[in-house]
Amino acid sequence: MSSIFETCFPSPILTLFLCLMIVTVCLTGDGMLKKADLVSSNGKYSVSMLKAFVDSSTHALVGFLVWAMVENACLLVKYNKWLNCMVAAILAGIVDLDHFMAAGSFKLERALHLERRPPFHNTSLVLLGTLICLLLSKWRSEMWVFALMFFSSWLSHHLRDANHRGLWFAPFGHTPLFSTQLYIFSILVLSVCVRIIAVFQRSPTASSPSSSENFVKVV
Ligand SMILES: [Zn+2]
Repeated sequence: MSSIFETCFPSPILTLFLCLMIVTVCLTGDGMLKKADLVSSNGKYSVSMLKAFVDSSTHALVGFLVWAMVENACLLVKYNKWLNCMVAAILAGIVDLDHFMAAGSFKLERALHLERRPPFHNTSLVLLGTLICLLLSKWRSEMWVFALMFFSSWLSHHLRDANHRGLWFAPFGHTPLFSTQLYIFSILVLSVCVRIIAVFQRSPTASSPSSSENFVKVV
C-alpha cells in the first residue's frame, strides 16, 4: 500500500501543498459567498454578479488543483502540464453554463432562478459521459486522459455544489446535502483516486516514481 503511494505521489510535500490549496480555495470561496449573502440581505446592494464570479472562479480553481494533483510532480519539470490544468479549470467552470441554457437567456437573474436543476448538474450524466469517452479511447487513445479530466473536473464541481443541493442522480433522485467537511474530503479523495488511476491505467507495472510521471499526456 505504501509503495502505491510512493509511486503515485513521489513528492509528499507537493501533494500536501495541493491538498491544503484545495481546502483553502473551497473554504475561501464559501466564505466570500457567505459574506456576499450578508451584504445582499440588507437590501441595499445586488451582489448576484459578484457571487456568480466568485462561485465560478472557485469551481475553476478547484478543477485546476484537482488536475494538478493528477499531474503531480510532472508540474515541476514539464511546464506544458500546466496547460492541462487550465483545460481542467475551464471544464470545471463551464458546468454552470447550463443555467443560461435552461433559462434560454443570458440574463443572470433568470439563470439563477430556475425552477429545477439544469442538465449539466446531473451526476448520472458525468458517469455516462466518462463511460462514452472511455469507449472512444479504444479508437483514440488520448480520449482516456480526457475521460479522466472530464470526470474529475465535473465531479469536483458537483461535489462542491452538493454542499447546497446534494448530488443529483437522475432519474433516481438526490442524495442528502453534503456538509462542508464531507464535500471537501470527497474532492480530496477524488483527486487522490484519479491520480492513482492515471498512473496505473497507463502502466500496471509502474514501479518507480520517475516512470510513473510520464503517463499523463497533454490533451
Ligand atoms: Zn454548479
